[in-house]
Amino acid sequence: MELTDRMRRMGTESAFEVLGRAHELEKQGRKVIHLEIGEPDFATPPHIVEAAVAALHDGFTGYSPAEGIPELREAAASFFSRTRGAEYPADRIVITPGAKPIMLYAMLALCDEGDEVVYPDPGFPMYESLAAFAGARPVPLRLREENAFRVDPDELASLVTDRTRLVILNAPHNPCGSASDRADVDRIAEVLAGRDLYVLSDEMYWAIRYGSEHASIATAEGMADRTILLDGCSKTFAMTGWRLGFAALPSELVEPVIRLIINSVSCTATFVQKAAAVALNGPWDPVEAMIREFHVRRDAMVEGLQRLPGITCTEPEGAFYVFPNVRALGGSSRDLARYLLEEAGVATLWGNAFGPGGEGYLRLSYANSIENIRAALESIEAALPSFPGG
Ligand code: PLP
Repeated sequence: MELTDRMRRMGTESAFEVLGRAHELEKQGRKVIHLEIGEPDFATPPHIVEAAVAALHDGFTGYSPAEGIPELREAAASFFSRTRGAEYPADRIVITPGAKPIMLYAMLALCDEGDEVVYPDPGFPMYESLAAFAGARPVPLRLREENAFRVDPDELASLVTDRTRLVILNAPHNPCGSASDRADVDRIAEVLAGRDLYVLSDEMYWAIRYGSEHASIATAEGMADRTILLDGCSKTFAMTGWRLGFAALPSELVEPVIRLIINSVSCTATFVQKAAAVALNGPWDPVEAMIREFHVRRDAMVEGLQRLPGITCTEPEGAFYVFPNVRALGGSSRDLARYLLEEAGVATLWGNAFGPGGEGYLRLSYANSIENIRAALESIEAALPSFPGG
C-alpha cells in the first residue's frame, strides 16, 4: 500500500513506544517505575466527576454545537480573564476534544505549502509533526540550557521571515519545565510587532508553576488579536482522558476552525463540556494541592539528580518534568534511556524525542509518587556506573 507524502511527513510521540516496551517488561514480571508519562497521577477532583455523572443523568448525551456549549465558552472566557488577564468575548472561544486538535486546525487554516512554522526545539513533538503534515516547513527555534531553556528573542528574530505564518510558544514548557514571565513575553511581542503572522501560545501547564507568575503573550502589546491562546483541562484538572481543550482565537479564525471541527469530530462530548464548565468555575483548592505536591517532588527530583556523577539539572519553574543534562555520561541519550529502562527498570524519554536540540538530555516526569521517585533515583544511581557510554 502506498501512503501519501503527507502521512510520511507525520511523526509520532516516543512516549507511546517507551510505554509499550515498559509494559512488555512488566509482563515478564519486571518492576518498572514510570517516569516517561505526561499526565498527572492524580484523580480528577470529585466535584468534576460528579458534574459529569449528573450531566449524563440529565440527558446531555447528544451532539453539542460544534464550537461548544455556550455555558463552557462563557466559563472559558472568564477563566482566561481571571487567570491570564486576557479578555476575550465568549464567541471567540472554541471547545475541542483535547488541546491537540487546535494545533492541527491552526496549521491547516493558516499554512499553505512552503509557509513556515517556528516551533521550540526541544519541544512537544506534535508541533513539528503537524506542521510538516499540513505542508508547512517546520523551523526549529533552539531553547538553550544556558538561557534556562527560555526563548531567546534575538534568535527568534533571526528565524522570522516573510513566509512565517505561525510562531509556537509553550510555557511552562514540555519537556524543559522553563517558564516565561512578563519581560519575556513583552520582548517576544516586540520581535513579532508589525509581522503578518500568528502566535500559537500553548499554555497547557500555565497553572503548574513554582513561585514566579505566569504571563501570557496574549496580554502583550498588540498580541491579543494575533494569538491563539490554547489551554485545556488535561493537566490543570488531571483530566487527560476526558479530552477537553479550549482556545481563544483571533476573530477571523473562529469560522474556519468551527468548519474544521464540523469536518473532523463534529463536537466535543457534551457531558464532558458540562463537567469542564464546573472545573473552570469551581474551587481551586484541588489544583493547589496538586501543585504543592508537584513542588515537593520537583525538589526531590532535582536534588537527587544533581547528586549523580555526570548529571546536572536546571531547576524547572513549571510543568512536571525535569530535563537533566547527561552529556558527561557519554553515549546518546536514547542509549541511556534504553539502558535505564532495561537495567534499572526506570522508564524515561531521551531528549531528542523532542527534537535534535534535546540530544544530551533526558526527560523525566515527576507525575509519580515521591516514594517511586526516590526508588527510581536509587536504581539509576546503582545502574549508572556500568553504563557503557560512548
Ligand atoms: N501541549 C503540550 C505542551 C503537552 O505537553 C500536551 C500533552 O502532553 C498537550 C498540549 C496535549 O494536551 P491534550 O491531552 O489536552 O490534547
